[in-house]
Amino acid sequence: MAESDKKRRAKARRRLAKKRKQKQRVAVIFLIIIAILIVILFMMERNKNGKNAGAKQSAGTEIQDSSAATSVDTSAQSEPAESVKMLNLTVEQMHSGDLVLVNGSYAYDFDANAPTVSLVNIHDTQSFNYPVGKEDFEVADRIMPFLDQLVDACDSAVGSKMTGVASAYRSMEYQQSVWDEMAELYGEEYARSYVAIPGYSEHHTGLSVDMSIFYEDGSEGTFSESENAVWMNENSYHYGFIRRYAEDKVEVTGISNEAWHFRYVGIPHATYMATQNLCLEEYIDYLRANARADNPLSITCDSGTYEVFFTTETTIEEPEGEYTVSGNNVDGYIITVKTA
Ligand SMILES: [Zn+2]
Repeated sequence: MAESDKKRRAKARRRLAKKRKQKQRVAVIFLIIIAILIVILFMMERNKNGKNAGAKQSAGTEIQDSSAATSVDTSAQSEPAESVKMLNLTVEQMHSGDLVLVNGSYAYDFDANAPTVSLVNIHDTQSFNYPVGKEDFEVADRIMPFLDQLVDACDSAVGSKMTGVASAYRSMEYQQSVWDEMAELYGEEYARSYVAIPGYSEHHTGLSVDMSIFYEDGSEGTFSESENAVWMNENSYHYGFIRRYAEDKVEVTGISNEAWHFRYVGIPHATYMATQNLCLEEYIDYLRANARADNPLSITCDSGTYEVFFTTETTIEEPEGEYTVSGNNVDGYIITVKTA
C-alpha cells in the first residue's frame, strides 16, 4: 500500500512537474509573443516617426525650395529695379521751375534759375501783333507760345484786338524803381499792398504778366472792369495761366486783388488750381500734404492726363515717359508725369 502510495505520489509529482513545465513553456511562448509584438510595435512606431521626420524634412525642403523660389522671384523683381534709373534733384531745382512760389516770404533765386530761364523779347517773338506796353518787355521763352494763345483766345472771345501786356519780367533794379515810384506817389503802405519788395516779386520769374487793354493810340484802358478780365479770369487756365491774386485769397497771398496779374504754372496745375479754387500757396500746401509718389494727384486737362507728386527726397526713381520737375522754392520738388 505504502509503495503504491509512493508510486502514486511520484506519478502525481511527475504529472505536476510536467504540468508546471507545460505552464512554463506556455508562459515563455506567451512572453516571446509579447516580446515580438512589442518589437513589431516598436518597429512600427519607429517607422511611423521616421516617416513623419522624413515628411517634416521634406516639408522643410519645400519651405527651403519655396523660399529659394521666393528669392528667385525677388531677384527677378529686383533685376528691373536695378535697371530703374535714379534721378538726382539739385538745390537749384528746388528753387526753379514753373511752380516756384515767390511771395513776401520766399524770394526769387536768380542764380538757381539762370541756367533754365532764358528771357525773350515779347515784341520780337510774338506770333501775331498784339500790344506790348514797352518794346523791351521780356518773358521766359517757354511761356511765349502760351501767352500768344491766351491773348489770341481772349481777343476772339471778346471780339476785340485790344488785349495786351502791360508788365512782364522785372529785374531787381526794375522792381526797385517800381517800388520807389509807388512809395513816393502813394506812400509805403499802399506800395506794400500792390508792389512786392525787390527780390520777392513774381515778375522776377519771367512767368508773370500783367494784362491790359490798349487802344489804337497806345493808351491803356481799365482792364479790371473789362470783358477781357472776366474772360481771362475764367479761361486762362486752358493756356497754363492762373489769376494769381484774387479777392478771396488776399489773406493767403498778401497781395491785394489784382484782376490783371497772371502767372504761368503749366496747363495741368493751372487747371487744378482754377477748378478747385486754390491759389499757388494753397496748391503747394495741398500737394505737400496729399500727393506722394505712391499716391499721386491725378489731373486730366486739355493737354492730357498727369500724375503729380511732391517729394523732399533728392534721389528718386526716374519716372517713366514724359515728366517735368519743378521746385516749390520752399522745401521740395513737384514731379509732373504725363500718363496719357
Ligand atoms: Zn503783376
